[in-house]
Amino acid sequence: MLRTPPPFNLPDLASSLSKLPGVGPATAAALAAKGLRTWGDALFFLPLRYEDRREPTPIAALQAGRLAVVEGRLFSSGAYGRQGKVWRMVVEDGSGRLTCLWFRFSKPRLEAFAKGQEVFVVGEPAEAKDGGWQMAHPEVYPAEQIQAGQGAVGSIAPVYPGLDGVRPGSARKFMAALIKKVAPAIEDPLLGVLPREIYPFSAGEALGRAHLPPLESRPEDLDPLEAGWRRVLAINELFYFELGLALKRRRRESLGGRGLSGGEEMLRRFLASLPFALTPGQKQALRDIQADLAAQRPMGRLLMGDVGTGKTVVAAAAAVLAAGAGAQAAIMAPTEVLARQHQATLQGMLQPLGLEVALATGSQNGQAREAARQAMAGGTALLVGTHALIAGGAEFRDLGLVIIDEQHRFGVHQRLKLVSKGGEPHLLVLSATPIPRTLALALAGHLEISDLPERPGNRDPVATRLVAYEQRREAVEAMAGALRRGEQVYVICPLVEASQSLDAQDVITTQRNLAAYFPDYQVGLLHGRLSADEQEAALEAFKQGRVRVLCATTVVEVGVDVPEATLMVVLAAERFGLSQLHQLRGRVGRGAKPGQCLLVAGPNPGDLGLERLRALQATDDGRQVAEADLMLRGPGEALGARQSGLPPFKVARWSLDAGLVPALREAIAALMAEDPPLAGPAHAALREEAVRRWGRRLGLVEAG
Ligand code: ADP
Ligand code: MG
Repeated sequence: MLRTPPPFNLPDLASSLSKLPGVGPATAAALAAKGLRTWGDALFFLPLRYEDRREPTPIAALQAGRLAVVEGRLFSSGAYGRQGKVWRMVVEDGSGRLTCLWFRFSKPRLEAFAKGQEVFVVGEPAEAKDGGWQMAHPEVYPAEQIQAGQGAVGSIAPVYPGLDGVRPGSARKFMAALIKKVAPAIEDPLLGVLPREIYPFSAGEALGRAHLPPLESRPEDLDPLEAGWRRVLAINELFYFELGLALKRRRRESLGGRGLSGGEEMLRRFLASLPFALTPGQKQALRDIQADLAAQRPMGRLLMGDVGTGKTVVAAAAAVLAAGAGAQAAIMAPTEVLARQHQATLQGMLQPLGLEVALATGSQNGQAREAARQAMAGGTALLVGTHALIAGGAEFRDLGLVIIDEQHRFGVHQRLKLVSKGGEPHLLVLSATPIPRTLALALAGHLEISDLPERPGNRDPVATRLVAYEQRREAVEAMAGALRRGEQVYVICPLVEASQSLDAQDVITTQRNLAAYFPDYQVGLLHGRLSADEQEAALEAFKQGRVRVLCATTVVEVGVDVPEATLMVVLAAERFGLSQLHQLRGRVGRGAKPGQCLLVAGPNPGDLGLERLRALQATDDGRQVAEADLMLRGPGEALGARQSGLPPFKVARWSLDAGLVPALREAIAALMAEDPPLAGPAHAALREEAVRRWGRRLGLVEAG
């Protein structure tokens, strides 16, 4: 794992939170449970909302549920009810009366208030049965205390996300102490670089406004989604990420590369050998790649296409162009299973041209490892493997092209450091991450983009249907039908092993049940806890059609290609991400017959769960699916940074901030045009900060 550097370049930010006043061991543990250990972590422990305690509100102007300060005189105060279990104060301010109730209280504290006394009360008003206002468990202070300037009133109080066992007031106190110490010391070279309209104040000031809102704040400043401080912090994050990408692109270009040309004839033969014609998108992508490869600088290209749009054949064609020019190509797959499958597919495509395709994965040992090493060193045209292929410092005779099939784990290539003798090798990244092009541009700013907008052939979309838990027999009947027609079936389960509940959503129980139910057919089992060899064997048996039903977890999600599979049944479908389900259903209907996907809900799918599944039923377009996921779950979960490989931002949100990126890229392009090495005094600080924040994650510096 790469450690995330502190958010700003300030040595203090590495200090432990327990060095702040008010952070004892219990508070430190509660903070650590939220991943907050250092001062740097806590800067972005941002308020959820604010309590506006600036001015008292007349009782007549109170609004239900909206925190208010009331200044008035005690009309009455005392215990009432059976056994005096409730304490009641009635406050009047000339505009009306407010009843304050405590059901739990410290008697000595409340007894100290006397009838007729001037008080301040802070709480959330609710309408009482008699039509007046009441507050349950408000804060109450003697007026002298407030007038003496004690902070409970006359301020704006941030409300932080709850911390177990930590009182809200205490979070306010240590956060205020932290910000006062740190914020003024944060230097912000961006302030002089970006136009004032988009970056009106420094990041340090933004943090000050977020945690210690000034008394003159306007209502929009107190809305954490709308506030100017949030925008400044988001821009600060996005700018340095984009600058990191720009530096990466420039570095690649400056390394120089070797033009790979002369492969046209072999490409022509390759295309002629295919059983199909390329789609217009595939043709265009291939033209882009051909031009890139021929140039004297390293290609950096992202080939984006939904599942089933035919990226593999484009990658194969690129490898043919490299081989025709006398260079080797390497393809890296995200999993070992997929690497083996690619190797088999590509061997079938390339052998007729006399090109060898060898396998090199991390789990190989002994003879296989030696064979892989020899293939690389001996000049075998195409090597297929996992990341171990290159990570292990492999020696190629002449590596000219690297292809990375990262499927939907977007961005894993960014850290990769490639070396070869003839200069930087050409790079082609294949991605099925269903993200809008603008987002891809922002995230992969150092790559050019080719799109595959259409699926080949007139293939029908996979007919997708939601099946209620109570109707799950329908799925079994559909399976029986497919099996009778000689077709194959995937059954996908969310779990490997049985959990407490007896819903049979685990793949092991499901396989056992189905094997008993369909005694005439072989029912296979595939999940990530099997060894790579066992997974390979299970998949191979399914591919050859010996096994007709494959019970699997999401390991089949990435790129498995079995043309005879027509039916996919997903159990407890609401437990999967929508984009994940979309990837999954792309596994069926890849051959001549149309595919069908049955999403069987679990016993308690929830309304949101069902709504999400209906969205999937309604569209076959991966980007629409991603957008639906985004709308229904929010970007954090839908394109979860960890799962998708998107970079982790603390404040920036694509749904809110993607529109800012073009202006930032323009500003960066202008800077780089004016001062290409970014060496000038105003620019060096920007470059250093981008490298400090992103250098390792983008592979700009050696990971140490
Ligand atoms: P993905 O983009 O998901 O990696 P694949 O490369 O695995 O998709 O291609 C999906 C299927 O479509 C494969 O069986 C492949 O042989 C087939 N295919 C690719 N291009 C075409 C085409 N132009 N016409 C018909 N079938 C194609
Ligand atoms: Mg693929």
